[in-house]
Amino acid sequence: EQLANKIAAGEVVERAASVVKELVENAIDAESSQISIFLEESGMKKIQIVDNGEGIANDEVALAFRRHATSKIRDVNDLFRIQTLGFRGEALPSIASVSMVEVETAVKEAEFGTRLVIKGGEVVENSPAPLRHGTKITVENLFYNTPARLKYVKSLQAELARIGDIVNRLALSHPDIAFRLVHEGNEMLKTTGNGDLKVAIAGIYGMNTVKKMVEIHAEDLDFTVSGFVSLPELTRSSRNYISLLINGRFIKNFQLNKAITSGYGSKLMGGRFPIAVIDIQMDALLVDVNVHPTKQEVRLSKERELMGLITRAIQKALASERL
Ligand code: ADP
Ligand code: MG
Repeated sequence: EQLANKIAAGEVVERAASVVKELVENAIDAESSQISIFLEESGMKKIQIVDNGEGIANDEVALAFRRHATSKIRDVNDLFRIQTLGFRGEALPSIASVSMVEVETAVKEAEFGTRLVIKGGEVVENSPAPLRHGTKITVENLFYNTPARLKYVKSLQAELARIGDIVNRLALSHPDIAFRLVHEGNEMLKTTGNGDLKVAIAGIYGMNTVKKMVEIHAEDLDFTVSGFVSLPELTRSSRNYISLLINGRFIKNFQLNKAITSGYGSKLMGGRFPIAVIDIQMDALLVDVNVHPTKQEVRLSKERELMGLITRAIQKALASERL
């Protein structure tokens, strides 16, 4: 099982940023209203996530770190050929196989919590812990036992930027959760969690940015499009500042990005992109999420119709701004 965990780690958590993503998504799944992330050395030395979610019951903590044995895979070589392992139930065991993990967790009704320590995939401590509603998970010395570690020592700065991107997006797609991201004592991001998207954008991109953004809204029978886009004077040299959500979930879609830039027409210089946070509410049946295993790149039915709606919503908002 240890071998399987370690290999799954290569797929599910191949870098510090994906560890952060998996752990924060777990905290979101646990219905937390506050999630704090503390990093050292871009997460390679330490990733600590503190949430106030529902916690894990005492007798289930160790279980959460076990993965389903799979019958398909006999040895390492088979495993590397499989492209799309289901990720269900794989994140925690994968992370624990390539790091040292400590969990403190408690559910609401409990009399005491649990402290679990795992080293190299083996449970070395499983004991009662003081009650603190929610979960604190600490991952140390990531990839200490894999060759991947060497790769990261060279690109810590890039890894931190990636983590920032991921947490930004999770925060934008959950304005009702208060996020905090701290790297070696420096606060990189803080949102209030008051549920207001504009306030969340301010927490991430700053108040001055929000002042140069306009609200958009449009709907037809299939879609409701809402959010904020920057004025043509405020652009970036990267698409990274375009955040697209479908039914509150972050997605990627090249065509919709094009629809956004189309809304600016000739006002957008070549190679420049707006800052945008756009949520699309739609029937989930119109989305095909199974295009990519990480389920971020999606394919849409009625894509043309949605593109037109987005482009026109932006044109309208920018036009009324100039009156
Ligand atoms: P998955 O999220 O696909 O179920 P994971 O390996 O990420 O698999 O997590 C395993 C289980 O551990 C989750 O299903 C959940 O029950 C529990 N868990 C993990 N993190 C948390 C958390 N922060 N709060 C509450 N439960 C958690
Ligand atoms: Mg998970």
